[in-house]
Amino acid sequence: MASLILQAVEKNYDGKTPVIAPLNLEVADGEFIVLVGPSGCGKSTLLRMVAGLESVSGGDIYIDGERVTEREPKDRSIAMVFQNYALYPHMSVYDNMAYGLKIRGFGKQHIQTLVERVAQMLELGDLLKRKPRELSGGQRQRVAMGRALVREPAVFLFDEPLSNLDAKLRTQMRLELQLLHRRLRTTSLYVTHDQVEAMTLAERVIVMNKGRVEQIGTPTEIYRRP
Ligand code: ADP
Ligand code: ADP
Repeated sequence: MASLILQAVEKNYDGKTPVIAPLNLEVADGEFIVLVGPSGCGKSTLLRMVAGLESVSGGDIYIDGERVTEREPKDRSIAMVFQNYALYPHMSVYDNMAYGLKIRGFGKQHIQTLVERVAQMLELGDLLKRKPRELSGGQRQRVAMGRALVREPAVFLFDEPLSNLDAKLRTQMRLELQLLHRRLRTTSLYVTHDQVEAMTLAERVIVMNKGRVEQIGTPTEIYRRP
């Protein structure tokens, strides 16, 4: 069964101009989809609707077989990683990673187990007491990733997660993401402008234009030279 289904999902912010035209999409369980397209074509809006950070103007969203169209973000089995990390500056690395579990009522011991396991995996084990400002860009991005991972969501949403990093770190994090996906096989929807990221991470690439799906295919199909 597909773990993410968009059924005629549409969006306008002003009651008339459609930003997302009725759009259908089925993402298979464990699939990694990369969304590309010109600035303003609606990629972020689409992600935010799946996350529940933005309401839909029409249509329905199903995650893991459940209709979530009107649910609060915390009641959807999703985790989102942002371009600007969006870490809480006054909280330690540990508390940043634990926060999403706390608000969902997880017990202290369970939280500690989950956070420490993910921290180990992302090589953040020695940084748990630090504040975000005491970390490098790459370490911050790892914390943002870790905060999403501890939740063990059905779907990951990534909004240009690597675009603030320098070229070297971007390459390193891209490879780490690739390994992570091989290991976890969490259904993922990933927005980027970077063709290399799309080529290496995507199982299918969706090219959006003006709120519509213009092309959908494997990276080879999308990027092959005519
Ligand atoms: P992308 O992520 O592809 O750059 P966005 O989803 O951010 O595109 O934006 C799609 C369109 O929706 C753009 O025309 C943008 O100006 C508009 N838009 C985005 N967010 C809002 C908002 N909160 N209010 C009104 N219009 C918005
Ligand atoms: P509380 O203060 O809510 O009683 P704890 O006694 O579990 O919570 O932990 C106190 C603080 O220590 C937590 O808020 C957290 O910032 C930090 N902390 C807990 N476990 C760890 C850990 N394994 N590594 C680093 N910091 C931790």
